[in-house]
Order: sequence, then C-alpha cells, then structure tokens
Amino acid sequence: MRIGIIGCGVVGAAIAFDLSQTHQVIVWDAQSQHQWQATGAALGVLMAAITPKLKGKHLKLRLESLQLYETLIPELEAITVLSLPYNRQGILRLCFDGDELNRWHKTQQVRAQQGFHLEILEREQLLHTYSHLSTAHLWESKESVVGAVYSPQDRQIDPVALSTALITAAQKKGAEFYFNTPITGFKPSSENDPQFLTHACSSTESYPVDWIILAAGLGSMPLTTTLKQTVPIYPVLGQALHLRRQTPLLEPMPVVNGDQVHIVPINASEVWVGATVEFPTEVGEAVEADPNQLTNLHQRAIALDASLANANILKTWSGLRPRPHERPAPIIERLPDYRNVVVASGHYRNGVLLAPITAQKVRQLLSN
Ligand SMILES: Cc1cc2nc3c(=O)[nH]c(=O)nc-3n(C[C@H](O)[C@H](O)[C@H](O)COP(=O)(O)OP(=O)(O)OC[C@H]3O[C@@H](n4cnc5c(N)ncnc54)[C@H](O)[C@@H]3O)c2cc1C
Repeated sequence: MRIGIIGCGVVGAAIAFDLSQTHQVIVWDAQSQHQWQATGAALGVLMAAITPKLKGKHLKLRLESLQLYETLIPELEAITVLSLPYNRQGILRLCFDGDELNRWHKTQQVRAQQGFHLEILEREQLLHTYSHLSTAHLWESKESVVGAVYSPQDRQIDPVALSTALITAAQKKGAEFYFNTPITGFKPSSENDPQFLTHACSSTESYPVDWIILAAGLGSMPLTTTLKQTVPIYPVLGQALHLRRQTPLLEPMPVVNGDQVHIVPINASEVWVGATVEFPTEVGEAVEADPNQLTNLHQRAIALDASLANANILKTWSGLRPRPHERPAPIIERLPDYRNVVVASGHYRNGVLLAPITAQKVRQLLSN
C-alpha cells in the first residue's frame, strides 16, 4: 500500500517512521528540512504521569505514548547510530499550596495502579535535593513552595533531534521525503467516486496514493477545506527563552514545573524556559507575540529558580500550536465522507508527547 503523509513535523515524522516498516511511504512538507513549524518551537516536555487527571481518554493517550518512548528512543538510536538528547531524570512539579500537595496522594495511588510511580516531597525533602529551589515562590502572590511531586518516569526530548531521527530512520526503511513541496489539492478516482482519492497534487506533480494522512498541523485545516470537510484548527502562540546560568547546576536535573512554567535543563548550564499561552482576540485571527507575556514568563521562572536571575538570555522564540476549535485535542480520525483520508492534527500543547501514540492510532485506522 502506498501511503502519502502531508506534513513532516514531529507528528508526520512519527507516522512516517511507523508506517514505513510495513508500507510504501511518501511524505511532503511545504518547507525545507531545516525549517520547522510548531515542532521547532516546542520544549519537548513529555508530561504524562504528573498530570493531575485521574482517568479519561486523553490521560490514557498520554500514558501510552510516554511508554512507547521507552522503546522508540533506543530503536531510533540503533537505526540512526546517534545519541538522542532524551532526559530520563523525570519531572519535578512544585506545589505552593498544602491542600494541592495533599490531593496528589490520591493521584499517587491511582498512578501506582496504572504502573507509574510518583513521589511526594515535603518542603524539607525537596530542598535537601534541590537547594537552588529554596526560595521558590509564585511570582504574583509570592506564596512559597510547600513541597513537590516528583515523577521519575516522565521525560523530555529535543523535538527537532527526535523528528530528524524519525525522518532518517524512515528513510532507511524506504520512505521518500519531498521538502519544499506544498500539497495544494487532490484527485478523486473518478467523478462517480469522489470520496476515494487517488492522487495528492503539488503545483507541478500528481503523486499516486492509496491513503492520505493529513499531518500538516495548522496546514491541515485548509486541506480539509479543499476537500469540503473543514476541520477547524487555529493557532495558539507560545513564546520561550533559552538561558545560560552563570554557575552550572549539579545533577539531578529533572524538568522543573510550577506557576505554568517549565524550566527544561539542556545541560548543566543551559535551560529552555517556556511557554506562554497566547490566544488571538477573535478565533481564527492571527496572534502576535506579546513582549509583556515573555517578560512575565521570565519573571515567573526566576521566582521559581533564583539562580536564573543573572542568567544570560541566549535566544527567545515563538511558535504556533495547532489547536482544534471547540473539541478536544488531538484529532486522529478518518475524514468524514472519504474512504482513504485520515486526519492526524491539532495536537495543541502535547504534539511531541503524543506523536508515538498518534502513529499507532493512524495504523489502526488504516487497518479498520
Ligand atoms: C512554545 C511551544 C512549546 C511547546 N512545548 C511542547 C512540549 O513541551 N511538549 C509537547 O508535547 N508539545 C509542545 N508543544 C506543542 C507541539 O509543538 C505541537 O503540538 C507539535 O509540534 C505539533 O506537531 P505537528 O507535526 O502536528 O505540526 P507542525 O510541527 O506544525 O508540522 C506541520 C508541518 O506540516 C507542513 N505543512 C503544512 N501545510 C502543508 C501542505 N499543504 N503541504 C505540505 N506540508 C504542509 C508544515 O510545513 C509543517 O512542517 C509546544 C508548542 C509551542 C509553540
């Protein structure tokens, strides 16, 4: 079977790698291999066990995808002969309210049944291991840290390194990639059967396919409009910072989370800090990065980790998260009225986390 995947961010790349093991795969991306959309802006935090949710479809996707990473990373490293920047030191979630910390005991029990270990640390235990967080507080209310939840099984991965490895591994399995090739339309098998598409078309070529996977992030919406089945997906902007500390930190170096901020260690000296969540004033309108929100993010990070106060800013950036309108993220389903089109888009804030499980779900949709 020849499967065409439109979009080569982390989601398209994960699907390409998975399907290339058993099918002929062809992938198109509108941009060059070194330009990235949402994937290039992401922090790569794989936050699953440490979410407060106890059950539900979304939690299940998160936990399953996190587990898939444990085999995916060594598999990719073996195929590409590269070492991937995969942080196995877990996620530390700071708590500023005793009641909130207590509520985690219930989550801890449920996670244990689901196969995940959470540790609840009182303030003294937290500061014993993480002395640089001794003055951690909420930036606005100034409330001090009362403890933390530590999830040793949550992870972080560099999203661009991961996507590049997925592409290389898929190529080694025979997948073909065409960059700088926006897909602009489709051809049906005949006028009598408009719901079976036989070709994906760029401005210059028509590529024969048996299945089409729309993994184009924000670009999926216009493609579904072309097919007269609009799936609304709109941008939510995120800004982030890359900082270098004056004094390197000693291990352990988990991702630190608190006050809606992730502090992501890249090495002993450098961290990524993110991310703002900025909506447009009207649904569907463009979103401009707000410098005040970036400043506020920076201040909240310093309130958590005072050693960041004199860190140098190496870089700031922003990206657009693809968010489904008035329905939960992500969208992984057959496009209504078409027999051979699957939408795998709208992963909003968790596309890196959910990429491996998305690939599995797409595979199931192709075989149903
Ligand atoms: C600041 C920030 C921080 C984030 N942090 C995290 C995090 O810590 N953890 C996490 O899990 N997620 C995070 N995310 C979310 C994550 O980035 C997204 O959910 C994910 O990257 C979506 O991947 P994608 O492949 O669907 O989309 P994209 O990466 O946007 O890729 C879509 C691709 O489709 C291509 N395309 C579009 N239209 C066409 C067309 N017509 N023809 C051909 N190609 C086309 C584009 O060129 C693009 O390369 C973050 C996002 C932001 C902005």
